[in-house]
Amino acid sequence: MPSEPPGKKPSKKDEKVRVPFRRNRNTRRRVKDWAEHAHGDPRDNAAHGERIAAKGELSRKRTIIVRSDAGPPEGLRPGIVLAVRGLYADVDDGTRTWPCTIRRIVRTRRIQERNAVTVGDRVHFSVGTDAGAEGAIEFVEPRRGTLQRLTGKRVHTIAANVDQAIIVSSAAEPAPKPHLIDRYIVAALYGGIAPVICMNKIDLDVAGAAASILDRYRALGYTVLGASARTGAGIDELRAVFKDKESAVAGQSGVGKSSLLNAVQPGLELKTGDIIEQTQKGRHTTTTARLIRLDMGGYVVDTPGIRSLDISRVPHFEIEAYFAEFVDRVKDCKFRNCSHTHEIGCAIKGAVERGEIHPDRYATYVELFEEAGRPRRSL
Ligand code: GDP
Ligand code: ZN
Repeated sequence: MPSEPPGKKPSKKDEKVRVPFRRNRNTRRRVKDWAEHAHGDPRDNAAHGERIAAKGELSRKRTIIVRSDAGPPEGLRPGIVLAVRGLYADVDDGTRTWPCTIRRIVRTRRIQERNAVTVGDRVHFSVGTDAGAEGAIEFVEPRRGTLQRLTGKRVHTIAANVDQAIIVSSAAEPAPKPHLIDRYIVAALYGGIAPVICMNKIDLDVAGAAASILDRYRALGYTVLGASARTGAGIDELRAVFKDKESAVAGQSGVGKSSLLNAVQPGLELKTGDIIEQTQKGRHTTTTARLIRLDMGGYVVDTPGIRSLDISRVPHFEIEAYFAEFVDRVKDCKFRNCSHTHEIGCAIKGAVERGEIHPDRYATYVELFEEAGRPRRSL
Protein backbone atom coordinates (compact mmCIF):
# COMPACT_ATOMS: atom_id res chain seq x y z
CA MET A 1 0.00 0.00 0.00
CA PRO A 2 1.21 3.51 -0.66
CA SER A 3 2.09 5.61 2.31
CA GLU A 4 -0.40 8.02 3.68
CA PRO A 5 -1.38 10.92 1.53
CA PRO A 6 0.33 14.21 2.16
CA GLY A 7 -1.76 16.83 3.80
CA LYS A 8 -2.79 14.71 6.71
CA LYS A 9 -2.23 16.85 9.72
CA PRO A 10 -1.63 15.32 13.07
CA SER A 11 -3.03 17.30 15.93
CA LYS A 12 -2.24 17.51 19.58
CA LYS A 13 -5.71 16.43 20.46
CA ASP A 14 -6.06 13.00 19.02
CA GLU A 15 -9.70 12.62 19.86
CA LYS A 16 -10.71 15.63 17.84
CA VAL A 17 -8.69 14.97 14.73
CA ARG A 18 -10.52 14.50 11.49
CA VAL A 19 -8.35 13.23 8.67
CA PRO A 20 -8.91 15.43 5.65
CA PHE A 21 -10.81 13.83 2.87
CA ARG A 22 -8.56 14.10 -0.16
CA ARG A 23 -10.25 14.79 -3.42
CA ASN A 24 -7.15 14.24 -5.49
CA ARG A 25 -7.82 11.32 -7.74
CA ASN A 26 -4.33 9.99 -7.26
CA THR A 27 -5.19 9.34 -3.68
CA ARG A 28 -6.76 6.00 -3.09
CA ARG A 29 -10.06 6.76 -1.57
CA ARG A 30 -12.28 3.96 -0.55
CA VAL A 31 -15.64 5.34 0.16
CA LYS A 32 -18.28 3.62 -1.79
CA ASP A 33 -21.95 3.93 -1.66
CA TRP A 34 -24.26 1.12 -1.02
CA ALA A 35 -27.07 3.20 -2.03
CA GLU A 36 -29.73 3.53 -4.44
CA HIS A 37 -29.64 5.43 -7.61
CA ALA A 38 -29.70 9.04 -6.66
CA HIS A 39 -32.60 9.70 -8.90
CA GLY A 40 -34.23 6.35 -8.80
CA ASP A 41 -33.88 4.01 -11.68
CA PRO A 42 -37.27 2.65 -12.65
CA ARG A 43 -35.56 -0.43 -14.09
CA ASP A 44 -34.35 -1.31 -10.64
CA ASN A 45 -37.37 -0.45 -8.62
CA ALA A 46 -34.98 1.27 -6.34
CA ALA A 47 -36.35 4.68 -5.58
CA HIS A 48 -36.45 4.59 -1.83
CA GLY A 49 -34.39 7.58 -0.82
CA GLU A 50 -31.98 5.54 1.21
CA ARG A 51 -28.31 5.35 0.51
CA ILE A 52 -25.71 3.16 1.94
CA ALA A 53 -21.99 3.50 1.64
CA ALA A 54 -19.22 1.19 2.60
CA LYS A 55 -16.10 2.74 3.92
CA GLY A 56 -12.83 0.87 3.92
CA GLU A 57 -9.44 2.41 3.74
CA LEU A 58 -10.67 5.87 4.51
CA SER A 59 -12.18 4.59 7.67
CA ARG A 60 -8.94 2.87 8.61
CA LYS A 61 -7.06 6.07 8.11
CA ARG A 62 -9.45 7.95 10.28
CA THR A 63 -9.47 5.41 13.03
CA ILE A 64 -5.70 5.49 13.36
CA ILE A 65 -6.42 8.55 15.41
CA VAL A 66 -8.69 6.64 17.70
CA ARG A 67 -6.02 4.01 18.15
CA SER A 68 -3.45 6.55 19.26
CA ASP A 69 -4.00 5.62 22.85
CA ALA A 70 -2.23 2.31 23.09
CA GLY A 71 -5.07 -0.22 22.98
CA PRO A 72 -7.64 -1.59 25.36
CA PRO A 73 -7.14 -1.30 29.09
CA GLU A 74 -6.27 -4.51 30.91
CA GLY A 75 -8.82 -6.86 32.33
CA LEU A 76 -11.65 -6.31 29.90
CA ARG A 77 -13.64 -8.83 27.91
CA PRO A 78 -13.59 -8.68 24.13
CA GLY A 79 -16.85 -8.84 22.26
CA ILE A 80 -18.70 -7.81 19.16
CA VAL A 81 -21.62 -5.42 19.05
CA LEU A 82 -24.84 -7.01 17.83
CA ALA A 83 -27.22 -4.10 18.26
CA VAL A 84 -27.23 -0.53 19.49
CA ARG A 85 -30.11 1.26 21.17
CA GLY A 86 -29.21 4.78 22.09
CA LEU A 87 -26.56 4.63 24.78
CA TYR A 88 -26.87 0.88 25.18
CA ALA A 89 -25.42 -1.94 23.12
CA ASP A 90 -25.76 -5.68 23.07
CA VAL A 91 -22.33 -7.27 23.06
CA ASP A 92 -21.66 -10.88 22.12
CA ASP A 93 -18.61 -12.35 23.85
CA GLY A 94 -18.83 -15.62 21.93
CA THR A 95 -20.94 -17.40 24.49
CA ARG A 96 -23.72 -15.01 25.38
CA THR A 97 -25.03 -11.51 24.88
CA TRP A 98 -24.25 -8.78 27.40
CA PRO A 99 -26.37 -5.64 27.59
CA CYS A 100 -23.83 -2.88 28.02
CA THR A 101 -23.75 0.83 28.51
CA ILE A 102 -21.32 2.89 26.47
CA ARG A 103 -18.77 4.81 28.51
CA ARG A 104 -18.67 8.51 28.09
CA ILE A 105 -14.99 8.37 27.15
CA VAL A 106 -15.86 6.13 24.20
CA ARG A 107 -18.61 8.46 23.09
CA THR A 108 -16.39 11.49 23.34
CA ARG A 109 -13.60 9.91 21.38
CA ARG A 110 -15.89 8.97 18.53
CA ILE A 111 -17.91 12.13 18.63
CA GLN A 112 -17.04 13.19 15.13
CA GLU A 113 -17.86 9.85 13.65
CA ARG A 114 -21.44 10.27 14.77
CA ASN A 115 -21.66 6.68 15.85
CA ALA A 116 -19.59 6.02 18.93
CA VAL A 117 -20.44 2.38 18.76
CA THR A 118 -22.03 0.61 15.86
CA VAL A 119 -23.08 -2.87 14.91
CA GLY A 120 -20.04 -5.03 14.17
CA ASP A 121 -17.67 -3.03 16.32
CA ARG A 122 -15.06 -5.03 18.18
CA VAL A 123 -15.22 -3.72 21.70
CA HIS A 124 -13.80 -4.39 25.13
CA PHE A 125 -16.14 -4.19 28.08
CA SER A 126 -16.10 -4.38 31.84
CA VAL A 127 -18.63 -6.40 33.76
CA GLY A 128 -20.97 -5.53 36.57
CA THR A 129 -20.26 -1.85 36.75
CA ASP A 130 -23.41 0.00 35.84
CA ALA A 131 -26.94 -0.12 37.01
CA GLY A 132 -29.35 -1.01 34.28
CA ALA A 133 -26.85 -3.02 32.30
CA GLU A 134 -24.52 -5.90 32.87
CA GLY A 135 -21.45 -4.33 31.39
CA ALA A 136 -19.89 -1.17 30.07
CA ILE A 137 -18.06 -0.70 26.80
CA GLU A 138 -14.71 0.87 27.58
CA PHE A 139 -12.89 0.60 24.28
CA VAL A 140 -13.69 0.28 20.59
CA GLU A 141 -11.19 -1.21 18.16
CA PRO A 142 -10.39 0.56 14.91
CA ARG A 143 -12.88 -0.17 12.18
CA ARG A 144 -12.47 -1.53 8.72
CA GLY A 145 -14.95 -2.18 5.93
CA THR A 146 -17.69 0.08 7.18
CA LEU A 147 -21.15 0.22 5.68
CA GLN A 148 -22.70 3.63 5.80
CA ARG A 149 -26.10 4.95 5.08
CA LEU A 150 -26.35 8.39 3.62
CA THR A 151 -29.52 10.19 4.46
CA GLY A 152 -29.41 13.51 2.75
CA LYS A 153 -26.07 14.87 3.82
CA ARG A 154 -25.87 12.89 7.01
CA VAL A 155 -23.64 9.89 7.18
CA HIS A 156 -24.71 7.13 9.45
CA THR A 157 -22.44 4.19 10.07
CA ILE A 158 -24.63 1.13 10.09
CA ALA A 159 -22.08 -1.65 10.34
CA ALA A 160 -18.36 -1.97 10.90
CA ASN A 161 -15.86 -4.69 10.03
CA VAL A 162 -17.76 -6.17 7.14
CA ASP A 163 -15.70 -8.86 5.39
CA GLN A 164 -17.86 -9.63 2.41
CA ALA A 165 -20.93 -8.57 0.53
CA ILE A 166 -23.20 -11.31 -0.69
CA ILE A 167 -24.67 -9.76 -3.81
CA VAL A 168 -27.98 -11.47 -4.41
CA SER A 169 -29.95 -11.43 -7.61
CA SER A 170 -32.58 -13.82 -8.85
CA ALA A 171 -32.97 -15.90 -11.96
CA ALA A 172 -36.52 -14.56 -12.35
CA GLU A 173 -39.07 -12.46 -10.50
CA PRO A 174 -37.25 -10.10 -10.71
CA ALA A 175 -35.05 -10.94 -13.68
CA PRO A 176 -31.30 -10.70 -13.16
CA LYS A 177 -29.77 -7.31 -13.84
CA PRO A 178 -26.08 -7.67 -14.62
CA HIS A 179 -25.53 -3.93 -14.46
CA LEU A 180 -26.75 -3.95 -10.86
CA ILE A 181 -24.40 -6.81 -10.04
CA ASP A 182 -21.56 -4.78 -11.52
CA ARG A 183 -22.49 -1.79 -9.39
CA TYR A 184 -22.44 -3.80 -6.24
CA ILE A 185 -19.11 -5.32 -7.18
CA VAL A 186 -17.57 -1.91 -7.71
CA ALA A 187 -19.01 -0.62 -4.47
CA ALA A 188 -17.79 -3.60 -2.49
CA LEU A 189 -14.28 -3.64 -3.92
CA TYR A 190 -13.93 0.07 -3.48
CA GLY A 191 -14.65 -0.40 0.20
CA GLY A 192 -12.29 -3.30 0.63
CA ILE A 193 -15.21 -5.67 1.02
CA ALA A 194 -15.04 -8.93 -0.94
CA PRO A 195 -17.95 -9.45 -3.32
CA VAL A 196 -19.69 -12.81 -3.63
CA ILE A 197 -22.25 -13.13 -6.41
CA CYS A 198 -25.24 -15.24 -5.50
CA MET A 199 -27.98 -16.06 -8.00
CA ASN A 200 -31.11 -17.14 -6.17
CA LYS A 201 -34.26 -18.77 -7.55
CA ILE A 202 -32.31 -21.03 -9.88
CA ASP A 203 -35.39 -23.26 -9.72
CA LEU A 204 -36.91 -20.66 -12.05
CA ASP A 205 -33.96 -20.65 -14.44
CA VAL A 206 -35.59 -22.91 -17.01
CA ALA A 207 -33.78 -21.48 -20.02
CA GLY A 208 -30.40 -21.33 -18.29
CA ALA A 209 -30.02 -17.60 -18.79
CA ALA A 210 -29.15 -16.97 -15.16
CA ALA A 211 -26.60 -19.78 -15.17
CA SER A 212 -24.86 -18.22 -18.13
CA ILE A 213 -24.70 -14.88 -16.34
CA LEU A 214 -23.08 -16.64 -13.41
CA ASP A 215 -20.62 -18.31 -15.79
CA ARG A 216 -19.67 -14.93 -17.09
CA TYR A 217 -18.71 -13.71 -13.63
CA ARG A 218 -17.04 -16.97 -12.71
CA ALA A 219 -14.85 -16.68 -15.80
CA LEU A 220 -13.77 -13.24 -14.62
CA GLY A 221 -12.56 -14.73 -11.36
CA TYR A 222 -15.37 -13.62 -9.07
CA THR A 223 -16.81 -15.95 -6.48
CA VAL A 224 -20.22 -17.04 -7.73
CA LEU A 225 -22.94 -19.26 -6.41
CA GLY A 226 -26.30 -20.49 -7.68
CA ALA A 227 -28.94 -21.15 -5.07
CA SER A 228 -32.60 -21.69 -4.42
CA ALA A 229 -34.14 -20.87 -1.10
CA ARG A 230 -37.15 -22.81 -2.30
CA THR A 231 -35.48 -26.12 -3.24
CA GLY A 232 -32.44 -25.87 -1.00
CA ALA A 233 -30.01 -26.01 -3.90
CA GLY A 234 -26.72 -24.28 -3.11
CA ILE A 235 -27.62 -23.62 0.51
CA ASP A 236 -24.78 -25.74 1.90
CA GLU A 237 -22.35 -23.83 -0.28
CA LEU A 238 -23.84 -20.58 0.93
CA ARG A 239 -23.37 -21.68 4.53
CA ALA A 240 -19.71 -22.32 3.80
CA VAL A 241 -19.43 -18.79 2.39
CA PHE A 242 -21.02 -17.25 5.49
CA LYS A 243 -19.02 -19.32 7.97
CA ASP A 244 -16.76 -17.31 10.27
CA LYS A 245 -17.16 -14.09 8.29
CA GLU A 246 -19.11 -10.91 8.82
CA SER A 247 -21.33 -10.56 5.79
CA ALA A 248 -23.69 -8.00 4.40
CA VAL A 249 -26.40 -9.21 2.07
CA ALA A 250 -27.21 -6.83 -0.75
CA GLY A 251 -29.62 -6.91 -3.62
CA GLN A 252 -32.84 -5.42 -4.80
CA SER A 253 -36.12 -6.14 -3.13
CA GLY A 254 -37.72 -9.48 -3.88
CA VAL A 255 -34.64 -11.41 -4.99
CA GLY A 256 -34.89 -13.57 -1.89
CA LYS A 257 -32.33 -12.22 0.57
CA SER A 258 -34.45 -12.98 3.61
CA SER A 259 -35.49 -16.34 2.22
CA LEU A 260 -31.85 -17.31 1.69
CA LEU A 261 -30.89 -16.32 5.20
CA ASN A 262 -33.80 -18.29 6.61
CA ALA A 263 -32.66 -21.28 4.56
CA VAL A 264 -29.06 -20.91 5.70
CA GLN A 265 -30.19 -20.78 9.28
CA PRO A 266 -33.61 -22.24 9.96
CA GLY A 267 -35.11 -20.54 12.96
CA LEU A 268 -33.93 -17.12 11.94
CA GLU A 269 -37.46 -16.35 10.85
CA LEU A 270 -36.72 -13.16 9.01
CA LYS A 271 -39.80 -11.71 7.48
CA THR A 272 -40.04 -12.35 3.77
CA GLY A 273 -41.95 -10.45 1.19
CA ASP A 274 -42.08 -6.74 1.19
CA ILE A 275 -43.50 -6.19 4.63
CA ILE A 276 -40.33 -4.89 6.21
CA GLU A 277 -39.55 -2.55 3.40
CA GLN A 278 -43.05 -1.16 3.31
CA THR A 279 -43.02 -0.30 6.96
CA GLN A 280 -39.56 1.22 6.73
CA LYS A 281 -40.45 3.50 3.91
CA GLY A 282 -40.27 7.14 4.83
CA ARG A 283 -38.59 6.60 8.14
CA HIS A 284 -35.26 5.22 7.11
CA THR A 285 -33.44 7.60 9.44
CA THR A 286 -34.63 5.57 12.38
CA THR A 287 -33.96 2.12 11.02
CA THR A 288 -31.17 0.31 12.71
CA ALA A 289 -29.12 -2.62 11.66
CA ARG A 290 -28.40 -5.59 13.81
CA LEU A 291 -25.86 -8.32 13.59
CA ILE A 292 -27.15 -11.86 13.57
CA ARG A 293 -24.88 -14.52 14.93
CA LEU A 294 -24.91 -17.60 12.75
CA ASP A 295 -24.84 -21.08 14.24
CA MET A 296 -22.11 -22.16 11.84
CA GLY A 297 -19.92 -19.25 12.94
CA GLY A 298 -19.91 -15.75 11.58
CA TYR A 299 -22.37 -12.89 11.50
CA VAL A 300 -24.68 -11.34 9.04
CA VAL A 301 -25.70 -7.71 9.00
CA ASP A 302 -29.46 -7.47 9.00
CA THR A 303 -30.40 -4.10 7.68
CA PRO A 304 -33.47 -3.04 5.82
CA GLY A 305 -33.09 -1.96 2.27
CA ILE A 306 -29.63 -2.27 0.81
CA ARG A 307 -30.98 -2.22 -2.67
CA SER A 308 -29.21 -0.44 -5.40
CA LEU A 309 -26.34 1.91 -5.13
CA ASP A 310 -25.05 5.28 -5.98
CA ILE A 311 -21.41 5.15 -6.82
CA SER A 312 -21.16 8.83 -7.58
CA ARG A 313 -18.51 9.30 -4.92
CA VAL A 314 -16.13 6.80 -6.48
CA PRO A 315 -13.52 8.78 -8.42
CA HIS A 316 -14.33 8.00 -12.02
CA PHE A 317 -10.80 7.14 -13.04
CA GLU A 318 -10.80 4.51 -10.35
CA ILE A 319 -13.76 2.59 -11.74
CA GLU A 320 -11.59 0.64 -14.19
CA ALA A 321 -9.66 -0.86 -11.30
CA TYR A 322 -12.80 -2.68 -10.18
CA PHE A 323 -13.43 -4.36 -13.51
CA ALA A 324 -11.28 -7.45 -13.31
CA GLU A 325 -10.99 -7.94 -17.07
CA PHE A 326 -9.91 -4.35 -17.63
CA VAL A 327 -6.97 -4.31 -15.28
CA ASP A 328 -4.39 -6.06 -17.46
CA ARG A 329 -5.51 -4.33 -20.61
CA VAL A 330 -5.51 -0.64 -19.75
CA LYS A 331 -1.74 -0.40 -20.16
CA ASP A 332 -2.25 -1.05 -23.87
CA CYS A 333 -4.46 1.97 -24.39
CA LYS A 334 -2.88 4.60 -26.61
CA PHE A 335 -3.44 7.36 -24.08
CA ARG A 336 -2.26 6.95 -20.56
CA ASN A 337 -5.28 8.71 -19.14
CA CYS A 338 -7.69 6.86 -21.42
CA SER A 339 -11.20 6.81 -20.02
CA HIS A 340 -12.16 3.93 -22.36
CA THR A 341 -15.26 5.79 -23.40
CA HIS A 342 -14.42 7.63 -26.63
CA GLU A 343 -10.65 7.56 -27.19
CA ILE A 344 -8.98 6.15 -30.26
CA GLY A 345 -6.52 3.35 -29.70
CA CYS A 346 -8.39 2.17 -26.63
CA ALA A 347 -7.45 -1.40 -25.67
CA ILE A 348 -10.69 -1.88 -23.78
CA LYS A 349 -12.87 -0.92 -26.72
CA GLY A 350 -10.71 -3.12 -28.93
CA ALA A 351 -11.28 -6.07 -26.62
CA VAL A 352 -15.02 -5.43 -26.65
CA GLU A 353 -14.99 -5.41 -30.46
CA ARG A 354 -13.07 -8.68 -30.54
CA GLY A 355 -15.58 -10.24 -28.16
CA GLU A 356 -13.07 -10.57 -25.33
CA ILE A 357 -14.97 -8.26 -23.02
CA HIS A 358 -18.70 -8.74 -22.65
CA PRO A 359 -20.64 -5.78 -24.08
CA ASP A 360 -22.86 -5.66 -20.97
CA ARG A 361 -19.84 -5.26 -18.75
CA TYR A 362 -18.48 -2.53 -20.96
CA ALA A 363 -21.87 -0.79 -20.99
CA THR A 364 -21.92 -0.83 -17.20
CA TYR A 365 -18.42 0.52 -17.08
CA VAL A 366 -19.39 3.48 -19.24
CA GLU A 367 -22.54 4.04 -17.21
CA LEU A 368 -20.59 4.02 -13.94
CA PHE A 369 -17.78 6.13 -15.32
CA GLU A 370 -20.18 8.82 -16.41
CA GLU A 371 -22.16 8.66 -13.23
CA ALA A 372 -19.07 8.78 -11.06
CA GLY A 373 -17.71 11.66 -13.06
CA ARG A 374 -20.65 13.83 -12.30
CA PRO A 375 -19.46 16.65 -10.10
CA ARG A 376 -21.32 15.72 -6.95
CA ARG A 377 -19.32 16.29 -3.86
CA SER A 378 -21.17 14.90 -0.98
CA LEU A 379 -18.29 14.51 1.46
P1 GDP B 1 -35.97 -10.09 -0.25
O1 GDP B 1 -36.82 -8.89 -0.47
O2 GDP B 1 -34.74 -10.04 -1.10
O3 GDP B 1 -35.65 -10.35 1.19
O4 GDP B 1 -36.80 -11.32 -0.80
P2 GDP B 1 -37.70 -12.36 0.02
O5 GDP B 1 -36.84 -13.32 0.76
O6 GDP B 1 -38.71 -11.62 0.79
O7 GDP B 1 -38.37 -13.18 -1.19
C1 GDP B 1 -39.19 -12.54 -2.14
C2 GDP B 1 -40.12 -13.57 -2.77
O8 GDP B 1 -39.38 -14.52 -3.53
C3 GDP B 1 -40.89 -14.36 -1.74
O9 GDP B 1 -42.22 -14.51 -2.22
C4 GDP B 1 -40.20 -15.72 -1.73
O10 GDP B 1 -41.07 -16.77 -1.41
C5 GDP B 1 -39.69 -15.85 -3.14
N1 GDP B 1 -38.48 -16.67 -3.21
C6 GDP B 1 -37.38 -16.55 -2.43
N2 GDP B 1 -36.46 -17.46 -2.77
C7 GDP B 1 -36.96 -18.18 -3.80
C8 GDP B 1 -36.46 -19.24 -4.62
O11 GDP B 1 -35.33 -19.75 -4.45
N3 GDP B 1 -37.27 -19.69 -5.62
C9 GDP B 1 -38.49 -19.16 -5.84
N4 GDP B 1 -39.20 -19.67 -6.85
N5 GDP B 1 -38.99 -18.14 -5.10
C10 GDP B 1 -38.25 -17.66 -4.10
ZN1 ZN C 1 -8.83 2.81 -23.06
